[in-house]
Amino acid sequence: MSEAVHYERVREHFENLKLDAALHELDPLLEKAAREERSPTWLLDQLLTIERTTRFERRVAANLKLSGIPAKKTLDAFDFDAQPSVPKATVEELATLRFLRQGQNVLILGPTGVGKTHLAIGLTLKAIESGHRVYFLTLHDLINKARVAREKNRLHILHTTLLRADLFILDEVGFQPLEREDATFLFETINKRYAAQKSTIVTSNKSYGQWHEIFPDHVLAVALLDRLLHHSTTLNIRGDSYRQRHRKQTGLPQAMNVEDAMS
Ligand code: ADP
Ligand code: MG
Repeated sequence: MSEAVHYERVREHFENLKLDAALHELDPLLEKAAREERSPTWLLDQLLTIERTTRFERRVAANLKLSGIPAKKTLDAFDFDAQPSVPKATVEELATLRFLRQGQNVLILGPTGVGKTHLAIGLTLKAIESGHRVYFLTLHDLINKARVAREKNRLHILHTTLLRADLFILDEVGFQPLEREDATFLFETINKRYAAQKSTIVTSNKSYGQWHEIFPDHVLAVALLDRLLHHSTTLNIRGDSYRQRHRKQTGLPQAMNVEDAMS
């Protein structure tokens, strides 16, 4: 077979295998290989690296889009000096994502405005950047989804979605008491993820001792906490709301924010 035929077949193979990024770089890299007298393995390495890098970046972008995170808050943007009750070393350890690989949970507790959601999103972004599939929901949204799914007889689909994520983030547990059906659904969700050894991050303005207040009965609250805490790290944040403090410092009127005003 002539070189031209080989070339055409290679292009066709790449197209057929949907190696789009490699195909796009094929001509420039063939030229470069000839010009610099590179080996065939060098060429293969270059092409496959480009394809894998592009695919990874596409996956990360898609996962970010589907993640449901409400804002992009990074761990780098978190001011640890302003919140000394947050152990930086623990957050740095969590940022290695070892907890995720080991299927451990993270609980972030503390009053409103102290950075719970910020830290949860920061860890979520780390997971997304490493190629993980994540799903971020407030408890309120989870319950609404469960109600809609129940009406349409599609609860099993919601459970599958919630289980598929490598990391599930449940934000704002404790703002409202739960109906029995909703509490049961929450327990099932956490229990399924626990059984599958998949990580969940939970934020709550309630301490563990107060969790029974939001559950219709103690047994369910204890069972849920049991699953969540079995393999877990807890960040207990104390102190003032970050925004409130900022306002105090800048002399702006306080409690302009509804969330803060209610805390
Ligand atoms: P919570 O979820 O605990 O109610 P948030 O994470 O929503 O609080 O924080 C409220 C706001 O203050 C957010 O805009 C967040 O980015 C910011 N914030 C809170 N703590 C810090 C911090 N230590 N460093 C930087 N920003 C912070
Ligand atoms: Mg929050």
